[in-house]
Amino acid sequence: MVKICCIGAGYVGGPTMAVIAVKCPAIEVVVVDISKPRIDAWNSDKLPIYEPGLDEVVKACRGKNLFFSTDVEKHVAEADIIFVSVNTPTKTRGLGAGKAADLTYWESAARMIADVSKSDKIVVEKSTVPVKTAEAIEKILTHNSKGINYQILSNPEFLAEGTAIEDLFKPDRVLIGGRETPEGRKAVQALKEVYAHWVPEENIITTNLWSAELSKLAAIGKDSRIGPKFLNASVGFGGSCFQKDILNLVYICECNGLPEVANYWKQVIKINDYQKSRFVNRVVSSMFNTVSGKKVAILGFAFKKDTGDTRETPAIDVCKGLLGDKAHVSIYDPEVTEDQIQRDLAMNKFDWDHPMHLQPASPSAIKQVSVVWDAYEATKGAHAVCILTEWNQFKELDYQKIFDNMQKPAFIFDGRNVVDAEKLRGIGFIVYSIGKPLDA
Ligand code: NAD
Repeated sequence: MVKICCIGAGYVGGPTMAVIAVKCPAIEVVVVDISKPRIDAWNSDKLPIYEPGLDEVVKACRGKNLFFSTDVEKHVAEADIIFVSVNTPTKTRGLGAGKAADLTYWESAARMIADVSKSDKIVVEKSTVPVKTAEAIEKILTHNSKGINYQILSNPEFLAEGTAIEDLFKPDRVLIGGRETPEGRKAVQALKEVYAHWVPEENIITTNLWSAELSKLAAIGKDSRIGPKFLNASVGFGGSCFQKDILNLVYICECNGLPEVANYWKQVIKINDYQKSRFVNRVVSSMFNTVSGKKVAILGFAFKKDTGDTRETPAIDVCKGLLGDKAHVSIYDPEVTEDQIQRDLAMNKFDWDHPMHLQPASPSAIKQVSVVWDAYEATKGAHAVCILTEWNQFKELDYQKIFDNMQKPAFIFDGRNVVDAEKLRGIGFIVYSIGKPLDA
């Protein structure tokens, strides 16, 4: 029987272990804590924390395969897998005071593990810790190892208090980071097998140690609170709200004497602008450093699919960038009118320090724009195709026909990862898919 011990019977340790116990009846789970009142409460009818559904889960397995104890050393010594879910508050004094995490509790837990262990252990970081904490813990353990093999895993917790049980039963993802060695992979697999009792395999993500640690702070897209539907590699975000709301934040921060925070939010917009100019640079540099006199087809002008809204669409900046290098731009979008496009390109944007927004396209440049009602028309005779909106119909186009009617070499710059790049490469296109390795 696999034995799990969790150090720390708090908001994370208690509910997490209760769910593991109820989902894995063949695993013995012991939650230990130095706080006797807390452990007494876990063993009573009045649990130390309130979470909807927690009472039922604890009652279903407490005394069977779920135990709460203050005998920390005994249960750590007996366990195969040790979760460490101790508190990691902000340091109040010394180096990094006010910002850095205080790892005192973690360090003492690690030293205690090293002291009492007599068999190989998998040690799992459950607490939220700074990146590279696993390396530090590894040093403590291996320098005191007495021949014992320790594998450290990072398995950050994403539950939210108030919905902890629901979050644990149906996590958006379980993230497991481990060493990229045979022993490390074996340890990752062992923990994966625990979660696999109830979490679908596609929701268990494995990675290296520091990526998992970092992903807790810069949470990855597989989290419905952030929105996997939205967080994709792209030519940039647009729409009427994001930039406006971020600018509002900048303003609020400046008004409240928080220039550094204001600067942080400004960077979000700058990075978004950078992404658009980077895309233009990629197009121009790939096409032998100039698009002057070349026809570039733009597929999609709306800021996202299934709308005709072009407010703050990245297509404006991409088109302006290409027109600035004297390209002939032929635009097709199923829901955007010619008037809209002409107006957007002629519009003067507000003037703060992001250069791509400074200038409207000049009247002569706008003459180099044609708006057509057919993707095949837009791409006919073109040197390159830029896909700027993820319309489903762009997946279904006859790319052989498009290729046959284009100049060669024929480039496709997919700003939304819409097309099957490999298939298109098979036809003969040179394909650049945003966020993916370059075409060979
Ligand atoms: P908590 O304060 O409720 O519980 C931590 C427990 O660890 C305490 O009961 C403490 O007595 C015990 N402890 C400390 N040192 C110990 C030791 N050496 N041996 C035995 N027990 C020890 O904290 P929490 O809210 O459960 O958070 C734990 C970690 O999980 C933190 O790093 C936190 O940032 C992270 N986290 C918390 C949440 C949340 O919603 N609370 C969500 C995700 C991650």
